[in-house]
Amino acid sequence: MNTERPVPDPGSRIPAFRGPDQPSAALIDACVHCGFCLPSCPTYVLWQEEMDSPRGRVYLMKAGLDGRAEMTPTFVSHFDACLGCMGCVTACPSGVQYGPLIEKTRAQIERHYVRPLGERLFRWMLFALLPYPSRLRVAMAPLVVVGPLLRALERVLPRRIRSLVAVAPRPTFASLTTKAPEHTPAVGAPRMKVAILTGCVQRLAFADVNQATIDVLAAEGCTVEAPAAQGCCGALALHAGNIDQARELAKHNIGVFERASVDRVVVNAAGCGSSMKEYGELFHDDPAWADRARAFSAKVRDVSEALIEAGEPRATRHPIKARVVYHDACHLAHAQGVRAQPRELLAAIPGIELLTPAESDICCGSAGIYNLVQPEPAAQLGERKARHIAALKPDMIATGNPGCTLQIAAAGRRLGYDWKILHPIELIDRSIKGE
Ligand code: SF4
Ligand code: SF4
Repeated sequence: MNTERPVPDPGSRIPAFRGPDQPSAALIDACVHCGFCLPSCPTYVLWQEEMDSPRGRVYLMKAGLDGRAEMTPTFVSHFDACLGCMGCVTACPSGVQYGPLIEKTRAQIERHYVRPLGERLFRWMLFALLPYPSRLRVAMAPLVVVGPLLRALERVLPRRIRSLVAVAPRPTFASLTTKAPEHTPAVGAPRMKVAILTGCVQRLAFADVNQATIDVLAAEGCTVEAPAAQGCCGALALHAGNIDQARELAKHNIGVFERASVDRVVVNAAGCGSSMKEYGELFHDDPAWADRARAFSAKVRDVSEALIEAGEPRATRHPIKARVVYHDACHLAHAQGVRAQPRELLAAIPGIELLTPAESDICCGSAGIYNLVQPEPAAQLGERKARHIAALKPDMIATGNPGCTLQIAAAGRRLGYDWKILHPIELIDRSIKGE
């Protein structure tokens, strides 16, 4: 396996960090340089280079803030290589909040660093498409027909197109045209009113996951709203440094979900949930939005958290006899601290043998748009993950993030496995329906 670090592209030289949205000096100073985070960092695991570790990146942020570092291609490359997986947050005994640090660092990079033309165009295309479901639907429609052909030709395609094809969603005509019902009544006496985020890629390529989420919540006594006016939560934009775009998208959804007037906003995609829980931080210095953002974030729950919160299960679980590997999505386990709830819900299904692969804390390499803009390390991490999963000989895999589903499926296929990968909520739904 090639474990060499990709060489950074050349770009123009601009001084690091200026203007609004700089990483906080106080958060940087919380790092005591102990190095406990190093073994948990996927890029350090791959390359063993200090500047590609959390400690090294925090050091570079400090240098940028103090005016000791310029925004050179090398400086930027260390942050581009970071997956934003938050493995370091779990590992850090000093509580360094790496999330807001890398988000602000990336905001600085996207505002002040001029990337090479091809890279700029590629990123522009991604962010003109991914956060807008109506545009994404048009862009994904041809995949229904040409997707199988592209996959057949995968090996002879140019590198960037090949990595795009490998992790591209596999929409169907039904998934592109299905709309989640706007209102679903609770089965039996209602015990909670919730609204669900239907997502961007999720609603178009994983419409079944949204329907399973609605059905399970309703079966467990939740009235479920799926406001049609909702848009993208801004997670991909926020994690990639497009902070202004993320704020605009977040404002729209805060308004939409406020009007739904619900107890909880339920999310079934880990990356989206972690961003929506951070809206308070995203608007902390905006007096017009800070309070609304904090109130919104306080209502956000992953679907597994919402189900545990709803109380004792009401719906009968029918047996599913299967060895199931549960893959912790980083933005669920590290960023939200949600590990026990999905396992508890899956373990309650009779017949399921729940398995956790080795290195479960290490990212699979999906990480938002990471596997599109950093295809080599993403592929290495994907295959590393796939080997650990394969060692357990599972019947199926369960994971709570669409990006992980696509990434693990692609890595598995490269190693010769055609795994069935489901969202945990789909397994619960099948158990309840006796399928
Ligand atoms: S977010 Fe992940 S890749 Fe980035 S420094 Fe932390 S552990 Fe490493
Ligand atoms: S574990 Fe925390 S305090 Fe120690 S080097 Fe890593 S980020 Fe800094």
